[in-house]
Order: sequence, then C-alpha cells, then structure tokens
Amino acid sequence: MWYLNDERTLMRDATRDFVDQEVRPKALEIDRADRFPMELFKRAGELGLLGITVPEQYGGLGSDYTTLAIVMEEIAKASPVLCVAMGAHSQLAGGMLRMLGTEEQKQRYLVPAATGEIILACGSTESAGGADHEEHSTRAVLDGDEWVINGGKVLISNIGVADVYIVLAITADHVDPVTKTGFSAFIVPADTPGLEIGSAEHKLGWHGSATGSISFRDMRLPKDAILGPQDGCMQAMFVSATDEFLTCGPVGLGIAEGAYEMAFTYSMQRVQHGQPMYDRFQVTRHKLAHMWMDIEELRGLVYSVHAERDAGDLQLAQGRMLKIRGSEISERVARDAIQLYGGLGTIVETGVERYWRDAKVLAIGGASVEAMQEEITQLLKAPAGAH
Ligand SMILES: Cc1cc2nc3c(=O)[nH]c(=O)nc-3n(C[C@H](O)[C@H](O)[C@H](O)COP(=O)(O)OP(=O)(O)OC[C@H]3O[C@@H](n4cnc5c(N)ncnc54)[C@H](O)[C@@H]3O)c2cc1C
Repeated sequence: MWYLNDERTLMRDATRDFVDQEVRPKALEIDRADRFPMELFKRAGELGLLGITVPEQYGGLGSDYTTLAIVMEEIAKASPVLCVAMGAHSQLAGGMLRMLGTEEQKQRYLVPAATGEIILACGSTESAGGADHEEHSTRAVLDGDEWVINGGKVLISNIGVADVYIVLAITADHVDPVTKTGFSAFIVPADTPGLEIGSAEHKLGWHGSATGSISFRDMRLPKDAILGPQDGCMQAMFVSATDEFLTCGPVGLGIAEGAYEMAFTYSMQRVQHGQPMYDRFQVTRHKLAHMWMDIEELRGLVYSVHAERDAGDLQLAQGRMLKIRGSEISERVARDAIQLYGGLGTIVETGVERYWRDAKVLAIGGASVEAMQEEITQLLKAPAGAH
C-alpha cells in the first residue's frame, strides 16, 4: 500500500498481533455483555496506542495521523467499540488538553492519559439543542476563587469509567451564534462533589462504550480548572471534533473489511446445490465485488485525506466527509454481509450483524451525518482556504 512505510508497517503488524491475540477473542463477549473493554483499553495504553499523535514530551509516540488511521482500521476489523472508547479519550478529550492545556495541566492529565493510566471523557452534548450549542444550558459562574457549575450532559462516552471529564459550559451572558464565543472548557475529576454520573444506556450498537448522562449540581471547581481561555474554547472543540470525525473513516473501513471478510469466507464455505455459494450464484459474486469496490474506494479516500492532515493541508470539510463516507460505506457493506449469510446473518451468535449495528451508530454518535453535511455546506461557502 502506498501509505505504508517501515515505521507504519511495524505499527500495523504490532496492532494486528494485539487484535488477533487479545481483541478478537473477546469482541463478541464484550458486545453481548455490553461491558466497557477495560482490560483491552489498558493494554492499548501499554502498547502506546492511546498516545499515537501525542508529542513524546507528553508520553505519546509523537507519530502521525496516518499511523493513527492504520491502527484504528486494524482494531475496528474486530472491535469497533474499542476504537470509539479510544477516540473519545484520545481525540476528543485528549485533543482539548493538547490544544488548550497549560504545561501543568498537560503534565497532570495528558501524560497519564497517553499511557491509559487515566481515562478521559468529553461532555459537550445536552438534551436541548443537540449538536447546536446555542441552546445549551450548562453554566459556570465564578464565585470568588471557585467556578460553580450547574446543568447536565447527555450521551457522553466513557461515563462511569472515566477518571476525568472535559466539560463545556457557558461562561458569558451571551453566546455568539456564529463564532460560539461564550463557552469555556473545564477539567472535572470524577470524584468532584456535585458531579452525578448516570448509568450507561443500552444502545443499538457500540455496546460497551459506556454512553450516558452526567449532571452538575452546584459543582465547585478551583479557578484553575478552566481549560484554555474563558469564553473561547469552541475553536479547539471544532478541531478536536474534526480529528474525531477523521477517525470515522478508518473505523468505517475496518468495520466494512471485518464484515466483508466474514461474508467472503462464508460464501466459499456454504454449499448450495453441491457448489459453494460463491461459485453457484453470480449475484453472490457481484455483491461481493461491489463490497470490495466500496472498501477500496473508502481506503483511497481515508489515506489520501490523512496524508493531507499530516502535510498540514487538511480542509475541515474533509474531516466531515470521512465521517459521512465511513458511516455510509460501512453500513452498506455490513448490511450486504448479513444478506449473504441468509438466516444465520440474523443470529447474534454468528457475529456478523454486530458490524451493521456498530456502523449504524457511527452515522449518529459524535455527530449525525446530516449535521455533517450541513457543516460542509457552510464551510464551502466560507472564504477560500477557510474550509
Ligand atoms: C453512542 C453515542 C456516543 C456519543 N458520545 C458523545 C460524547 O462522548 N460526547 C458528546 O458530547 N456527545 C456524544 N454523543 C452525542 C452526539 O454527538 C449526538 O447524539 C449527536 O451530535 C446528535 O445530536 P442529538 O442526539 O441531540 O440529535 P439531534 O441534534 O436532535 O438530531 C436529530 C436529527 O436531526 C437532524 N439534524 C440535527 N442537526 C442537524 C443539522 N445541523 N443539520 C441537518 N440535520 C440535523 C439529524 O438527522 C439528526 O440525526 C454521543 C452520541 C451517541 C449516540
């Protein structure tokens, strides 16, 4: 592959070993038990996979986004949910710490996060307004030397297992609807009095990603718990969200490959009228050919966009494009894989329907593809170079 070099090949092979020996054997059990894959998350930390793009001075590998994509693709072939937990930790919350943290905050939170010693979550979404932050109601008010926060967040990944939450709250009297100035980010340790952590929701897919609500009742934080400039965290949130959207490309690619490999193997093994399905039915072969073409198209897109990210040439719209294409293609390929399995495709124990459930949630979790399309239209309208 054109995007592989010696270093990336080493990383891909090490991740494949981790996936084959430790992740794949547990993936179905994690889905069925709907449990956070704690032992795999911690192992990923030991292997450096939680700090791939974190600079070495903060305990990371200091590697590039293409390497991150390669790792995400390999893991998603077996366990998309592990990628989701890693993305919320490393890209969303970790990205905010990287961009906005003071040196002391980075040493205290980013360094242990890069190795998985602590787990991070990022709380932005609220029950009113969804991704449209203007209607949010969580507020932080300065009272002497402390911030007092009231409100709540919904659908937050890694709840209950996170040691630290990065939380967005309104700190200004007025939120600018265009620039979103008026929001600040805060570092909230999980044991902060006034922080209430709900239980994980039972979802269609991404079982085990521990998604749920947190609320704040007169939650007091020291003044220096603010992350970045007062009223001005949204630019960084936009960038860290873009990095998370980017990972939906390789995660979608891994999901599609996992489903395709199962369907291809099954079509060779399942005998119909004395012949393997693959040889017997042209429609089976053609369906598999379309699935393969979808996968290779997505691969080309994922790695060319990541090459631009690494070269510093990424357009923000491209991050959103990967979120959309990663979800669409993985959903289509996973749906066809179920179809090729016939009745067995509907049986949970077979393991193939899980890919479709995880692909479906990929189209909503973190941001809906419709909101992504809308953002692309806004970015394309912006002055040249801004998107
Ligand atoms: C499994 C999972 C994990 C998540 N993890 C996190 C997390 O870690 N942190 C966090 O802060 N949030 C998280 N979220 C929340 C996620 O970002 C939101 O669910 C998502 O942005 C959609 O917002 P909403 O659920 O409020 O739906 P709504 O905003 O109510 O949207 C409903 C539908 O309306 C349409 N729509 C909405 N907005 C637009 C728009 N601008 N343009 C066009 N159509 C639109 C879309 O069809 C959308 O599906 C997670 C969600 C899920 C499902």
